[in-house]
Amino acid sequence: MKLATKIIHAGATPDPSTGAIMTPIYQTSTYVQEAPGVNKGYEYARSQNPTRKALEDAYAIIENAKYGLAFSSGVAATDSVMKLLNPGDEVIAASDMYGGSYRLFTKVWERYNIKFIYVDTTNPANVQAAVTASTKLIWVETPTNPLMNITDIEAIAGIAKSANALLCVDNTFASPYLQNPLDLGADIVMHSATKYLGGHSDVIQGCLMMDDAGLREKLYFIQKSCGAVPGPMDCFLVLRGIKTLHVRMKQHCANGEKIAHWLRKHPKVATVYWPGFEDSAGYAIAKKQMRDFGGMISFELKDERDNEVRRVLSSTHLFSLAESLGGVESLINHPASMTHASIPKEDRIKNGLSEGLIRLSVGIEDADDLIEDLNNAIG
Ligand SMILES: *Cc1c(COP(=O)(O)O)cnc(C)c1O
Repeated sequence: MKLATKIIHAGATPDPSTGAIMTPIYQTSTYVQEAPGVNKGYEYARSQNPTRKALEDAYAIIENAKYGLAFSSGVAATDSVMKLLNPGDEVIAASDMYGGSYRLFTKVWERYNIKFIYVDTTNPANVQAAVTASTKLIWVETPTNPLMNITDIEAIAGIAKSANALLCVDNTFASPYLQNPLDLGADIVMHSATKYLGGHSDVIQGCLMMDDAGLREKLYFIQKSCGAVPGPMDCFLVLRGIKTLHVRMKQHCANGEKIAHWLRKHPKVATVYWPGFEDSAGYAIAKKQMRDFGGMISFELKDERDNEVRRVLSSTHLFSLAESLGGVESLINHPASMTHASIPKEDRIKNGLSEGLIRLSVGIEDADDLIEDLNNAIG
């Protein structure tokens, strides 16, 4: 079955008590049992909830996975993967990634004696060189936030297999519409469903998808034992959002392409980061593992002075200055002071994230209106 059909029908079975076509919001904390232990598979809502179950089935289907698990946020999903590890284990992680993941690794998990080795994962040889007998997990994000660097998932999966380590891919930027890491050999896919999956900037949620039953059991145990579960209303919102993922993504990609090429020709723009440029470093790999190039774009102005960057950031009208991404409305963001402020400045600069970098989450408005808005702001 093709993605468009799967997305519409994923996790959707008529409600058994009424036939309701949309899964109801089961706003309940507990379920009445006929006798101790005699129940319909639902005991307590931290462990099971029918709205969450419908969404978790949908999560699995859209990533070609056997299993899906929902968490109260993207970072809660990442945190749950870290709980698979033991003190002394090593993680190889991408040096260019979401600031909140970096903060979780360095400020929380390092205190529990998990060692993180940061490498530029765009070159698989760097990952191979960092492998030791203690490597238990490789954490990759592609395209990266905010520099759009591309990592070869298949190559890293090969390294993970031979090292007997798990590979987890943060697939938030691509969404399942553009890329399916499990098909390329990854063990776990993670998403901030807050972004493209929810798609309407109205919910915080995260998820993990996997094929291995043993891994699913371990992660389900962590989900119910540690308790970072989303509520049924939030699950309903994501379930509803997913139904239009393919239609939204098609427009995000078309608008992204148009705006990326336009920006590149603008006399006041120095560099544009977007994986669809044929001369960009990651193009060949992006072309191989992605179906299109998405609506996330970063760029630098020729005039890098702080007040000029700030002027542009506060001069758009259709692009709202805000953190987050992947919603139907366009957003503009300053990674150095907003989404990536939790990364120390020296580390940011070392990874190529300049103080003047501007990130766009291109929405699904009319591309010409968006270009006019940017043109007025850049001047
Ligand atoms: C937003 C984001 C996260 C964190 O997700 P939350 O839902 O905000 O907790 C993780 N990875 C990437 C790439 C993100 O953009």
